[in-house]
Amino acid sequence: MSEHMLICPACAAKNRVPSSRLQQAPLCGKCKVELLPAEPLTMDGPRLDRLLANETLPLVVDFWAPWCGPCLQMAPVFNAAAGEMKGQLRLAKLDTEAHQAAAARFGIRSIPTLIAFVQGKEVARQSGALSAGQLRQWLQALNR
Ligand code: ZN
Repeated sequence: MSEHMLICPACAAKNRVPSSRLQQAPLCGKCKVELLPAEPLTMDGPRLDRLLANETLPLVVDFWAPWCGPCLQMAPVFNAAAGEMKGQLRLAKLDTEAHQAAAARFGIRSIPTLIAFVQGKEVARQSGALSAGQLRQWLQALNR
């Protein structure tokens, strides 16, 4: 039986979860918060590093900023995708305005940029806003 390592979005504790239980709303063993909420997690540099260093579920990060029109347009689409892909992919957002050092570290030159990570390594990058259909297609390709 395979299992995944998940970081609690509330207390940052490490949790081992069997793959078979990913779709059953697993809770943090320490603080009982849902480990895989239906919305994207809010990242800063250290939180993102902790996810990348530990989590085994594929992670997709939306690098965005509050002043970016296309980012705001894509936000509801990205939020909905987090619900749809729950238990398969982890979705997160990083505000590049508030966390400029982290954005620079990942080489973000335009926003929105989506980066997909598997086992902490970048596997795909998409710059520019996607429609709901395009985003779904992009995410499903990662999940194969
Ligand atoms: Zn917790």
